[in-house]
Parts: sequence; structure tokens; C-alpha cells
Amino acid sequence: MTILRIALAVPLHRLFDYLWQGATEPVIGQRVRVPFGSRERIGVVVEIASESAYPEAQIRPALAILDDIVPLPPDFMALCEFASTYYQAPLGEVIMQALPAGLKRPVATQRRAKRSVGLNAPVHPAPHLTNGQVQVLEELRCAKGFSPFLLHGVTGSGKTEVYLRLMQDVIEAGGQVLLLVPEINLTPQLEERVRGRFPGARLVALHSDLAEAARERNWCAALAGEADIVLGTRLAVFTPMPCLQLIVLDEEHDTSFKQQEGMRYSARDVAVVRASALAIPIVLGSATPSLETWANAQNARYRLLSLRERAHSEARMPSMRLIDTRKVVLQEGMSEALLQAIEERLLKREQSLIFLNRRGYAPVLACPSCGWISNCRRCAANLVLHLADRRLRCHHCGFEARVPSACPTCGNQDIHPFGRGTQRLEAWLQERFPTARVLRVDRDSARSRKQWEIMLQRIRAGEADILVGTQMLAKGHDFPKLTLVGVLGSDAALFAADWRAPERLFAQLMQVSGRAGRAEHPGEVLIQTQYPDHPLYRAVAEHDYEGFAASQLSERKQAGFPPYAYQAVLRAEASAMADSLAFLEKVRALPLLADHALVSVYDPVPMRMARLANLERAQLLAESPSRAALQAFLPRWRQAIEAIKTPARLRWHIEVDPLEF
Ligand SMILES: [Zn+2]
Ligand SMILES: [Zn+2]
Repeated sequence: MTILRIALAVPLHRLFDYLWQGATEPVIGQRVRVPFGSRERIGVVVEIASESAYPEAQIRPALAILDDIVPLPPDFMALCEFASTYYQAPLGEVIMQALPAGLKRPVATQRRAKRSVGLNAPVHPAPHLTNGQVQVLEELRCAKGFSPFLLHGVTGSGKTEVYLRLMQDVIEAGGQVLLLVPEINLTPQLEERVRGRFPGARLVALHSDLAEAARERNWCAALAGEADIVLGTRLAVFTPMPCLQLIVLDEEHDTSFKQQEGMRYSARDVAVVRASALAIPIVLGSATPSLETWANAQNARYRLLSLRERAHSEARMPSMRLIDTRKVVLQEGMSEALLQAIEERLLKREQSLIFLNRRGYAPVLACPSCGWISNCRRCAANLVLHLADRRLRCHHCGFEARVPSACPTCGNQDIHPFGRGTQRLEAWLQERFPTARVLRVDRDSARSRKQWEIMLQRIRAGEADILVGTQMLAKGHDFPKLTLVGVLGSDAALFAADWRAPERLFAQLMQVSGRAGRAEHPGEVLIQTQYPDHPLYRAVAEHDYEGFAASQLSERKQAGFPPYAYQAVLRAEASAMADSLAFLEKVRALPLLADHALVSVYDPVPMRMARLANLERAQLLAESPSRAALQAFLPRWRQAIEAIKTPARLRWHIEVDPLEF
């Protein structure tokens, strides 16, 4: 008797036994079509056994073994098993989420082995390397076996060029490279640059913006070992690649490497585990590494490589100035110093970027007479005023409403936008500088990849004088004419309840500052703040990542926060907060902790954003100074929670290494 133990995409932590009576010999990692309930499903063979714990009469036969692609390789299966165990996610869900949709459909689709049409990108010659790049490359090339590197390079220092040289070595030796980036939409230039450098190599992209057929084709090319380079976003970390020899993960601090729904995992951490299992090098790159990664570099678990100079021979780091807004009169939130700096750039035909990380016209609409404000009725959040299309919009759940002409509570017709977003700033700057070309760049103005690429081209061609933008503009772009960056409205993050907020603010400010003066023109950054003496701003002004990281890490050590503690949260969502909290109280009272001395479970609390899309959310934090102790606790905890009877419509999940609370 041949029993196939199958992983299926169902939210249960178990495999399913099926009988195999066909002629072909099954192999682990093959897809199979099986009956499940009254339907058919595709699963993956995880084990092959000769007997089952179930009586033979109850075991249904598998319908077919699919051999249209090669079996998923053992290292891929092992990686999924690791993720399933570590993140408390059902193995079937982990494996199946990694597969393209067409390979998960029980109805066979026509698959053609079609070679993807390579874009004819212009061929880019390799630039001359700086001394710093040469040294870093020398060290990287000596790497043998599993070698995790942190490449810490200031903005504009040429980290990408280092990646490209390393990739070249691997490709020429016949290996595959996995290049992971935070959001592909934000970096269309990177894809073109890689293609231009390796015109003879086969590069495939894997990200959520791809059409289904293209994603499947690219994925199959990676699995077949035909793709030399896989350029992808977080999910691509689970791409099977039989000849994988190098993983590069750029902007490793970026939170978009963390999947925050469905199966919650960190692509960065999974990538490191993958490199370790394959005994290959991995390069994590950033100008502002996450504190977790920095701590790993400090304690020599990762090898630290630094690029301290900008690659362009004449480019210097921008000069930074903090403008104390307590002492000056502001016009629409802008100081005279910043307005003058813009004026100077206009005269010199250089570009300015005003960074305000808040899209919309104003964050809220308010009635001064009765105190009404535009709340989202589904969330604990305000509706943001969008004047361009006269809508009130919730940035959390997507709820939309017309802008009322009078206060819905008291009828007062004199209701006001309160605060400012990018649309308001854009309108005011256009009025203030009538001959300047003002361009707003945020998720409202650049909705599609196409629109975004057109905007980037316009900026690079110098067809805009003043840019008003959110963090979309902060990442990785080279605008040669941009010499001034003004930062507004960043103080709020200094005192946020989230203890990771300073780390994120620092990274954001360094990133956006890095846009200024990347070519021969010197750059200047003006940050408006009421707290010019705050240590975070001082560190930003001095480009002092290391000092900032050291002070943050010592604070975290004192407070017992990650990376000096390991955390997992159990979250519950229900239509009433009382239900969520009552469920978590029951979990809190489980008698499990006696066996896990190193693990603490705190009291249930509402989440910071307690109400989202009509659900009341609360959470329970489990913490330990030992990762192993927490990992030993979590599966037992999950099983005990699964046994608790929950009210209908209450949903819960566990997230390991959470970033948000
Ligand atoms: Zn009113
Ligand atoms: Zn909402």
C-alpha cells in the first residue's frame, strides 16, 4: 500500500493521507490532484509511507500525480517546513502560497514552455569602482559557505554596483541569483539596470503586479534552473531555484519585507535561513540597517562591510540644517529659510523636494462650532480630506464618503480642513511660486506602475521644479538635478507610542536626505522641527547612523525590547471588544506557562488601532529572552488555543517577531 501524505492549503496544522494506486512512482515535492470534501484540490506530496493511522476504508485515493513541472526540490520543501514551524503556519498554506495560481488549480491549464521575451534594455557598461567598492568586493569574493554580510553603505555609495559585480561572478559560473527588493514598483530603474548589465542572462521578475501567466512562466523558469536571476519582492524568497548560489536583499531595513497578513513572515529572516541551509553567501544591504541586523553585525554573527563615500567622484554627502520652527513665523507650515532655499533653486534651475509623509489635502475635516470631526465609521481613524476628487477617505479600510457641505451634526456650513497633506502643500506652493512647475508624487498621483514610471522620467528629465512627495520618493532614486530636500511634519514620530518609530523616522530621514546632491551639484537638507536638540535629529544632521544605532540599542537593552527579547503576539478580532478581550483572558489563564519558565505572557490589551474595518482588535504578547524557549512554547500554546471554544465570528492568529502592535 502506498500512502501519500499531502499538504493542502487549508488552515489546519496537519497533513492528509491519500492512497496511491497509479502506475507512476510518486516523488516528494510533486503536485497531486486529490478529492477533498465534495471538490478537488491540488496538494503537494510531503511524505510517502506504506501505512496510515487511518483505517484503509477511510482513505480516499489520490486522482493524479502531476508531472508538468519537476518536483519541488528538497531544499524548497525544507525551507517551507522551517517557515511552518517557526511562524506557526500550516505547512500546506506555506507551500501553496509560494506556488503561482495556475499550478494550484485542479483544472489542468495549458502550459507552454515559452521563453519570456527579454526587454531590450540598453547595454550598460560597468562603471569604474571606487576604492571602497573594490575592498568590499574583495572581502565578499572570499566568502565560502554560509556567509551573512551586512553591506552598510551611505546613500549614493554604489551598493547596487557591488551587487552587480557579485552577481556577475555567480552567473558566469552557472549559478542562480536571488535578488530581493522591497517594492518593485518603486524601483523600475533597478530592473532595467540589471537587464542592461547582463544582456545575455535570463532575468525573471516575481512580484504581485505581474499578470498571472507571466508570474507562472517566470516561476517555472526559476524552478527549471533556466532563469539566472530572479528579481522579486518578499514572496519571491520562496522561489524554488535548483542552482541558487547567492542571495542579495537590498534595503534590508524596509518593513515591506514583512508580510503582515495571511502567513506572517519576514522575508529577510527567511532569506538568511535559506542561505544558511544552502551554505551560500547572503548580502543584506542598507544605508540604515534595521537594529536587529545591526546588532547581528556588532556581535559578529554577520560580517559588516562599509561604504562610507559616495560613488560619484564629485558627490558629497548633503549638508544638513535643522530649522527651529518655534522661533519663526510659518507660512502654510513652511519657514522663510525653506522658501528662500526653494527660490534659490528655481533661479539656478535645480530641483527641490518637499517631503511630507501625509497624502491627501488635510488629515481631517472639522467643525469649529460643535467639535465634529470626520471619523471613519468603521475604524478608530479619521477620514482624510481629498480635495482633488472631493472625497473623504479612510487610509486604513478604504471607506469613502462625499465631502459634506455642512456639519452633519450641527448644520454649520463653515467646516474646515485641519492640518495639511501633500495636496494642500502642492496647491499652496503653486500659488506661492506661480511660474514653477510643481509636481506632487504620492500614491494618489502615481497609482499604476506606468504612471509612476512616467513621473520618474519627467523628474529625471528636469520637467519639474518643485516636487512634493511622500516616502514613495524617498527610496533609491537618482535625480541628478535635485539639490534641496525640505522635511515637514516629522516631529510627530518622535513621541509616538510605537517604540520602533524612532528607528523608522531615522531611516526615512536618511533616505529622503540621500536624494539631495547625488551628482556634481552639492545637496542641502532643511529639516523643520520644534525639537532641534533632539538626539535623533542631531544624529541625522551628522549622518551618524552608528551613534544613533548604539543609543537605540542601549535603550532597547534596558527596556528588554527586541533584539534583546523575542516576541510573538496572539491577536483576536471580533465585532465587540469585550469578546476579543474575553477570549484573550481565557488564553492568558491557560496553565501552560508553568512548564516554560523563560516565557512571559502579558495581559490582553486593545491594539493601538483598536477598531479596523468594523472589527475590534486586541492582543496578547508572549515574550522571552531566549528564541529557543519561545519557539518551544509556541506550538504548545497554539494547540491549547485551538482547543478553546471561541464565539462565532471571532478570528485569531499568532504572529512571530511582530513589527506592529
Ligand atoms: Zn458642527
Ligand atoms: Zn476605515
